[in-house]
Amino acid sequence: MIDGRTQLVGLIGWPVEHSLSPVMHNAAFAALKIDWCYLPLPVPPQRVEAAVSGLAALGFRGANVTIPYKRAIFSALSSLSPHAEALGAVNTLLIEQGDDPTTIGENTDVAGFLAALQGAGFAIAGTRVLVVGAGGAARAVTYALVENGACEVVILSRSIKRAQELVEQFSGKGQRARLRAAALNGPNLVSVSKDSDLLVNATPVGMWPNAGRSIWSLEIPIPSRLTVFDLVYNPQQTRLLKQARNSGARAISGLEMLIQQGACSFSLWTDRQAPIDVMREACVQHFASLVAFTQERSGKR
Ligand code: NAP
Repeated sequence: MIDGRTQLVGLIGWPVEHSLSPVMHNAAFAALKIDWCYLPLPVPPQRVEAAVSGLAALGFRGANVTIPYKRAIFSALSSLSPHAEALGAVNTLLIEQGDDPTTIGENTDVAGFLAALQGAGFAIAGTRVLVVGAGGAARAVTYALVENGACEVVILSRSIKRAQELVEQFSGKGQRARLRAAALNGPNLVSVSKDSDLLVNATPVGMWPNAGRSIWSLEIPIPSRLTVFDLVYNPQQTRLLKQARNSGARAISGLEMLIQQGACSFSLWTDRQAPIDVMREACVQHFASLVAFTQERSGKR
């Protein structure tokens, strides 16, 4: 029930209608019986600065930020956390209200990625990692890996230039990791994987509605010693993760990272521990209802 005391948070992006964040956060608020509400806030291009000022004026505690504003929002903020500054991307705003409100930009994707790996029992220190893709998610993952003691990170991308940019950004900053970029193709994927401990898919390949696709050839088994982390979270069980399990490899769903980054934002805003199991269940139920809806529409039920 929303009333005059309800504390608001939300999601700034364009578009925002497919986001899982309202489902996940509102379930968490309900479970903790706190009078908070999470709203989708579609912000058209060129209005992002006005939207951020508006959040502060309307008494919001904060917001998540998604595509295309993770960087464009910088000029509207009072300050950036060290993670957000190092990555050049913000996914969470924390607003300190008062006579002169301040809006701080944070990035919880790094903590979300690390928490998901930790939850699966994977320790990064001293490992060799293959990252596929060189966009915003790959940047957060590479940063998390080099900051946490990976000894090698190889970035495979169809745009080798973007992969090289990531290597340059994170090389030689006092970390022990060796970084290398190469072209994304079948032979490179297989040969680098042979010497890797962790494979991270940071491309949208396999994402709904192209859930039948995978970065890994269906004919070749995935090495069983690999841990495979697919950042794609819709569907929860991607083709790549099924291939990993079928080969005996450990598989981690992008849904875990999504939930964990949401949990970090939740704690920043509320100063409470997030009810992770409730958030996970809300996402899983939401996916189940979407699948049922799609099947109903296509006449399969
Ligand atoms: P992005 O900035 O647009 O980068 C996408 C990357 O994937 C680029 O390197 C792109 O290569 C590559 N790519 C796109 N289509 C490809 C294809 N068909 N074959 C090979 N490479 C392809 O996107 P992003 O923000 O990094 O997101 C990447 C994925 O991670 C998305 O599925 C997103 O939903 C997921 N993600 C998940 C979480 C989570 O919490 N689980 C968080 C962030 C992102 P080019 O440069 O050549 O186009």
